[in-house]
Amino acid sequence: MKNVKKSIIELEDYFVLQDTSVVKLNQNESPYDIPIELKKEILSKLNESQWNRYPQLRPSYLIDAISIYTNYPCSGVVVGNGSNAIIQTVLLTFCEPEDKILVVSPGFPIYPRLAKIIGLEIVDVPLLEDFSFDVATIIEKSEGIRIVILASPNNPTGTALRIEKIEEIAENIEGVLVVDEAYFEFYKKTAQGLLEKFDNIIIIRTFSKAFSLAGLRLGYLLAGPEIAREIEKVRLPCSVGVFQQIAGEVMMKNKDCIKSLADKIIEERGKIFSELKKIPSVNPASSFTNFILFEITGRPAKYAFEAFYKRGVLLRYFETQRLKKYLRVTVGTPEENNIFLKNLKAVLGE
Ligand code: PMP
Repeated sequence: MKNVKKSIIELEDYFVLQDTSVVKLNQNESPYDIPIELKKEILSKLNESQWNRYPQLRPSYLIDAISIYTNYPCSGVVVGNGSNAIIQTVLLTFCEPEDKILVVSPGFPIYPRLAKIIGLEIVDVPLLEDFSFDVATIIEKSEGIRIVILASPNNPTGTALRIEKIEEIAENIEGVLVVDEAYFEFYKKTAQGLLEKFDNIIIIRTFSKAFSLAGLRLGYLLAGPEIAREIEKVRLPCSVGVFQQIAGEVMMKNKDCIKSLADKIIEERGKIFSELKKIPSVNPASSFTNFILFEITGRPAKYAFEAFYKRGVLLRYFETQRLKKYLRVTVGTPEENNIFLKNLKAVLGE
């Protein structure tokens, strides 16, 4: 332990239950593995590639495919080993130790975690009562802040900012606004159009959700080409391997298949939401993602979490004060969602 930074010793382990023997609805993954024909296409391309060679530094085929999918120039695209790694790269590009970053809470816990590891100061702006973003306070507290980072739609609440509100933040802060659009394919609205108008916006996306590639680790960002060039210097060389490059390219070229799976998830989300609404002791938050956060009155959420797990359904429970009455369920396949709903009534005794 000697010589390890104090901030690291104090940091808790990152832990999420990863039990795949149950109905696993706790990590916002896609319930659908990618179609077998696409797996075959990826594997045959992988077979043809040379594993003894380092991957392309800037993977041109993948970046071209992202550029076509997003309709954004290649020069403004940076890829990374999952969007978590991209977030870390962005923080390292802009922040000196002790710089301040602004996050919202409840929010994606990786932002403050990475900030602590790098030695940054964290300014936290709570979401409003209904989990909407407190834009006025974000702007008010943004003085002297290097980066404002938020997910829209947000994890774990599922709530999203309207694009005009994102614009208002970008317009009124001195620092950089990082908009994490991990759930873009379920919201279908993007702040990407603001990249033309503002040079302080960065959009981050992932292949882990709608693209079904959580196991492979791939994400990308969109930024102005000059900023993208600087971020590219910070990214670890060759951090995206051939497997990710090939799979990402194939998936982007099959975006229609992804869209139909995302639409299926959106439809199921609506079904779960309306079923939850019918239960008097449950209060779901509207969601623009592939999960729903819901409040349980009557029984402690921790008890409900454990009861679900015993019945073979793994949900997410949060140990924080603000979310202690809540559980989060990832939208699964129709069969999985039915199992969740059937067990919910039993767990709540309704
Ligand atoms: N951002 C948000 C808002 C997320 O919810 C997640 C995944 N839970 C990520 C980023 C991480 O994505 P990746 O798998 O690409 O690291």
